[in-house]
Amino acid sequence: GPSHVSGSRRRRRRRTMLCFATDKTRRLPVRIIEVSPRDGLQHEAIFVPTARKIDLINALSHSGVTEIEAGSFVSPTAIPQLADSDEVFRAIDRQPGVTYSALVPNERGLERARAAAVQKIAVFTAASNSFTRHNIKATVQESLVRFTPVIHGAKRDGMLVRGYISTALWCPYEGRIAPKLTVDVMRRLLDLGVDDISLGDTIGRASPADIRGLLDAVMPHIEPTRLSLHVHDTYGMAVANVLTAWEDYAITAFDCSAGGLGGCPYAPGASGNVATEDVVFALKASGATVAVDEELIVDCARQLSAVIGHPLHSRLSQISRPRIGQPALKV
Ligand code: MG
Repeated sequence: GPSHVSGSRRRRRRRTMLCFATDKTRRLPVRIIEVSPRDGLQHEAIFVPTARKIDLINALSHSGVTEIEAGSFVSPTAIPQLADSDEVFRAIDRQPGVTYSALVPNERGLERARAAAVQKIAVFTAASNSFTRHNIKATVQESLVRFTPVIHGAKRDGMLVRGYISTALWCPYEGRIAPKLTVDVMRRLLDLGVDDISLGDTIGRASPADIRGLLDAVMPHIEPTRLSLHVHDTYGMAVANVLTAWEDYAITAFDCSAGGLGGCPYAPGASGNVATEDVVFALKASGATVAVDEELIVDCARQLSAVIGHPLHSRLSQISRPRIGQPALKV
């Protein structure tokens, strides 16, 4: 009957709208942005010795990840865990094909990043005013004003700039965030000259349905290759969210942390960032091209766990190697 016809027409139209990914885009290599040296270590109670940080970054450099967030040029009193970023950047062995980035909150931080020959900086804001007020003592608008000279200065010096948008889906204070708010912030960052955008599910509350709602709104405004998804695994949905973004929206860059190191002080019980090794395993198992050696990442995670003195909870690091259907690796 007529209701059946209009129903199928509606479904057809919906499918057309969602056609952001194709077989061709699914063959594009996936890029992993490894954030454990910054986003991971800054949430640890202890100061990890500089030499251990350098070892970690050097080991990660050989795993196949395309970008490593190696440090942060925020005030050392605010984040003492990363007070040695200048020294770290000077000492690491930079591998060709790997971009080493750092978080930069202001012009003083940009000065330090420049002195340390940082190739790419990251500025951070959010989609929710309550979150930026708590986190950086500014409204979203004020944070953008603050970053403007930083972004322009970095671009002038030939650095790349990434823009983090925290609480892109859920906020610990405001609950669900309307996709339009995230799109507005993203467009303003792009207008300021930011090269790529990282959309953060800061409290790890988003479901694949939430990811679809956001990406339906975001994708008309940005090339998929300039987008990265930064998910946390609080409710166990992080890997599902990554697969949804890759399979349905041609997102090919993901922020991950070895062992799932990291957390969010604003989300009670928040587990860390999604684990790099779990993301790589899931994407490869789904047919994606990912040039990252997940076993090397597991080794990094185990070393990291020994240094910080507590276990990490990635799935892959807890599975003995022969049980995942692979031949036993050399030890
Ligand atoms: Mg994170």
